[in-house]
Amino acid sequence: MNPQRLYANGRAFEHIARFHPELTAFRRDLHANPELGFEEVYTAGRVQAALKACGVDEIHTGIGKTGVVGVIRGRSTASRRMIGLRADMDALPMKEDNDLPWCSAKSGLMHGCGHDGHTAMLVGAARYLAETRNFDGTAVLIFQPGEEGFAGARVMIEDGLFERFPVDAVYAMHNWPALPAGTIGINRGAMMAAADRITIRITGKGGHGAHAYLTVDPVVVAAHIITAAQTIASRTVRPIDAAVVSLCAVQAGDLDAFSVIPGTATLVGTVRTFSSRVQAQVEQRLRELCTQVAAAFGATAELAYERIYPATINTAPEAQFAGDVAAAIVGEGNVDRQLEPSMGAEDFSFMLQKKAGAYLRLGQDARGGAFLHNSRYDFNDDILPLGAALHAGLVEQGMPLPGQAGGGEPAAAIRGAANDSTATAVR
Ligand SMILES: [Zn+2]
Ligand SMILES: [Zn+2]
Repeated sequence: MNPQRLYANGRAFEHIARFHPELTAFRRDLHANPELGFEEVYTAGRVQAALKACGVDEIHTGIGKTGVVGVIRGRSTASRRMIGLRADMDALPMKEDNDLPWCSAKSGLMHGCGHDGHTAMLVGAARYLAETRNFDGTAVLIFQPGEEGFAGARVMIEDGLFERFPVDAVYAMHNWPALPAGTIGINRGAMMAAADRITIRITGKGGHGAHAYLTVDPVVVAAHIITAAQTIASRTVRPIDAAVVSLCAVQAGDLDAFSVIPGTATLVGTVRTFSSRVQAQVEQRLRELCTQVAAAFGATAELAYERIYPATINTAPEAQFAGDVAAAIVGEGNVDRQLEPSMGAEDFSFMLQKKAGAYLRLGQDARGGAFLHNSRYDFNDDILPLGAALHAGLVEQGMPLPGQAGGGEPAAAIRGAANDSTATAVR
């Protein structure tokens, strides 16, 4: 990969690059107006207005509370195929430390994960697809609320998303500061882990710190449970399976009461796994350790194990196809088809539990060393046309018009453009 000289190719990219300034302005307006999950009223309104201006065939609002779906029919729909593209719209409850003209206008709220960029990229794809319609089938553009811990994808599904729009496959992409701009990463299986929340409540018997022999000290029990939990990943799970068990918060007693042994202690943490087999194994082992370690000290411990997001698992044929579409745009050398999975989580996983599809990472550079959820992060507008063209390519090449290899343009011709000096630079 050569981060110094990045190009993107193909008719969709060149078409979308012409309205790059409008997309950038749209993205920055969303950035200035961040909204939390299920509160994306302004954002959904902007999306709705943009889709209307693009001339999409149908706009559906209020799916999963603040979700919006746009429908674009190709020049033909004889294939009866339907492809879904998903962008998340929500921001984070965090303070922005950037000094940019488009900084958050709302204190304590920030687009720190680049969902403003994701929304703008899908709007860019909508405009291109509505203007050109070089495909045989129906494109379903899914603007999803509440990715950041609200399971907005699940809420849209429960609200009938896939009954109303029975897509054959669904795709999503996330900007990724760890990858250079102009590069795309994907793999044929697990992209992100399942995220579970664990809460361990320990009950002992409080008393005077000077007469500890009269108490059942829950702080000591918590310490032993914390230590025992370290053996789950190292001594229970097979080394070739992946699991993380992190106890991230401990609460017991009062810092002002140096001689009071408390009656209870609470531990909170997270478990990350890629397979439901390992997930079940971790839960069972953790439960045994909590119960039995506590019992050994004469205390009790209760484990609440909540499955928050499932693992994000690409289906192999769709991942292969999405990799091919990416390679046609940025060149094979700029696509990592064996991208290492992340132990982070993503609620697009709920869509991939229902439908074939794939989740891609779009390189965007860690500008100023700021990664996702950092108070100095900002989406890189340079990659807006690339992401939009990637969405468009998934539709055009996934539902090609009869007699055309994809999008009315032979894939080989798009690939050939990789060496074309007229190709538009990403940056
Ligand atoms: Zn995030
Ligand atoms: Zn995100």
